[in-house]
Amino acid sequence: MPELPEVEISVRRLDSVLGGACVDSAVAPGMNVMKTFEPPLEALVGREVSGVRRVGKMVVVEFGDLALLIHLMSAGRLGVFGRRASPRDRASRVLVRLEDGRELRLREFGTKQRAWAKLMASDAVEADEMVATLGPEAWPAPTAAEFAALIDQPRHLHPLLRDQRTIAGIGRSWVDEVLWEARLSPFKKGSELDEDEVARLHAALHVLGDAIDHYEETVGEEPPEKPAKPLKVHKREGEPCPRCGATIEAVFFSEHQMNYCPAEQTAGKVLKDRRLSRLLK
Ligand SMILES: [Zn+2]
Repeated sequence: MPELPEVEISVRRLDSVLGGACVDSAVAPGMNVMKTFEPPLEALVGREVSGVRRVGKMVVVEFGDLALLIHLMSAGRLGVFGRRASPRDRASRVLVRLEDGRELRLREFGTKQRAWAKLMASDAVEADEMVATLGPEAWPAPTAAEFAALIDQPRHLHPLLRDQRTIAGIGRSWVDEVLWEARLSPFKKGSELDEDEVARLHAALHVLGDAIDHYEETVGEEPPEKPAKPLKVHKREGEPCPRCGATIEAVFFSEHQMNYCPAEQTAGKVLKDRRLSRLLK
């Protein structure tokens, strides 16, 4: 799933290659992708792309006073292609065809259709329920005091940091990296942290900025559909911790996994593998 750093590099590149391009036509082959019907997508015809920006993990493509708000969910990809998609391309969800022959293409892979888009007045974006309910952006990080207040909740850090209403932009990959950087257990509760731990967690948000810097250096001028994430612990179970050499462990859930360094994050304790314990029941 694209998270804050991936969506950020995507919108920076989209903004630079699409700015000023004029829309020839716009269609939504994805039956369920459009969550709004008024104005219709055809309202984009003849308009210019005036900017592309990020809000949380969502993309906002602006066409003057209209904006397309896009959520890629876990399997959506946004790219610019030199020619139109084949009508047989089953991954196509939204196609914005440009007069210069290029196409802004929202595609989605896998069996589940979850990615969505909404077309609305540009000045209505901030009031959209998905935008208005977002917590502060995780990067640039909120102030230390603001962050401390946000996470002072009796919830485990792993779901708490992924809750977009608490703090926006962190998902299943980067939460592992942030917690590893802070040397904190994913099962510690936000309200249990002492001052030093809150400060470490706040400081650890820099991994998001570092990832953006990494993408700036490694991604070319073309908008990347799926940049390779520079992850140190997520999905690296069995490998040595890059900091202390202990073996990275994992806890598996039905749709995601969490990874951590037991030596540095859980006082040596290896957390129960829920997948395994479920199988053994
Ligand atoms: Zn370690």
